[in-house]
Amino acid sequence: MFEDKNQEKTSLEQLGEFGLIEHLTKDFKLHHKSTIKGIGDDAAVIDFNKKKAIVSTDLLIEGIHFDLSYMPLKHLGYKAVMANLSDIYAMNATATQITVSVAVSNRFPLEALEEFYKGIALACELYKIDLVGGDTSSSTKGMIISITAMGQAPKEDIVYRSKAKPNDLLVVSGDLGAAYMGLQVLKREKEVFKVNPNNQPDLSTYSYIIERQLKPEARKDIVELLKKLGIQPTSMIDISDGLSSEILHLCKQSEVGCNLYEDKIPLDPTVISACEEFKLDSTLVALSGGEDYELLFTIDQKKFPELKGNPNFTVVGHITEKNEGAHLISRNNSKIPLTAQGWNSFAKA
Ligand code: ADP
Ligand code: MG
Repeated sequence: MFEDKNQEKTSLEQLGEFGLIEHLTKDFKLHHKSTIKGIGDDAAVIDFNKKKAIVSTDLLIEGIHFDLSYMPLKHLGYKAVMANLSDIYAMNATATQITVSVAVSNRFPLEALEEFYKGIALACELYKIDLVGGDTSSSTKGMIISITAMGQAPKEDIVYRSKAKPNDLLVVSGDLGAAYMGLQVLKREKEVFKVNPNNQPDLSTYSYIIERQLKPEARKDIVELLKKLGIQPTSMIDISDGLSSEILHLCKQSEVGCNLYEDKIPLDPTVISACEEFKLDSTLVALSGGEDYELLFTIDQKKFPELKGNPNFTVVGHITEKNEGAHLISRNNSKIPLTAQGWNSFAKA
């Protein structure tokens, strides 16, 4: 994980906007031939040649999407990039460039933005992404971040949400619910800290779920693995708001129904034990927890042998005709309609 340092603070006014942009972005390297012009002109220039350009953008507001009291700025920068790359990978595309726009109030010194950009730089290095622009502004309150990710794919490779068909298998990568349980641990520690700031909690038993919350990874590797296995999903979406709402998106856009099997939902053992400790239902956490950034996709049944036994994948159900609806088949074999409860509404419940 990233370390925190106590440093001297430099006010942003000292640098001015252009000095700040130059300071924050000067060490970024470009990885792609397709980046004809990056930072420094009125706009970036990107050459996608004969491929299709894939574009996605996200807005993150302090207090709504992140809480800096348990999210270190370096992690925030990394995670903000991951959330965007995840959308590009969910189209079965290669992510290549990002722009980063940021507004901060005067409570943020230069060192805070440096930390934020360190996280962005690490993400760009590990995922081979070019930072090609952005915008910088002040805000009256808090931090606002907008990242746009760009990617490319041959037309025939692009996977939409809308092409799942009855009898397709429903598959997820990785495991679910860990990011939400990591958040529960961090929130609890924040409350403990308020009461006793000298308390040094031992969070080692929670390291997996905390890491999933603070430093998630977008599943570039899964897109590459699918290609290697010769599997072209019929539909795909990334799991940012919880399995339930993402399945419903696929079903609605593909005009199909589905059966999701409760006993198939992949859960890490540490998620199960954290759920017991917090008295939360692990199925509900996987269905509604959010921020897992795994991929949910459908494949033709004929492709099953290609991913059978692969530890990266779990078949969690299958697609049905639309009129059958979207259901969870519970462990005791009852059929429960899936509802679109994302992490937002879940947090309020
Ligand atoms: P403009 O006045 O045309 O908006 P700016 O002075 O804001 O231009 O930006 C100058 C250059 O720096 C542009 O290439 C822009 O994309 C880039 N840039 C501005 N802010 C950021 C940022 N926060 N991160 C990365 N690049 C940035
Ligand atoms: Mg600008």
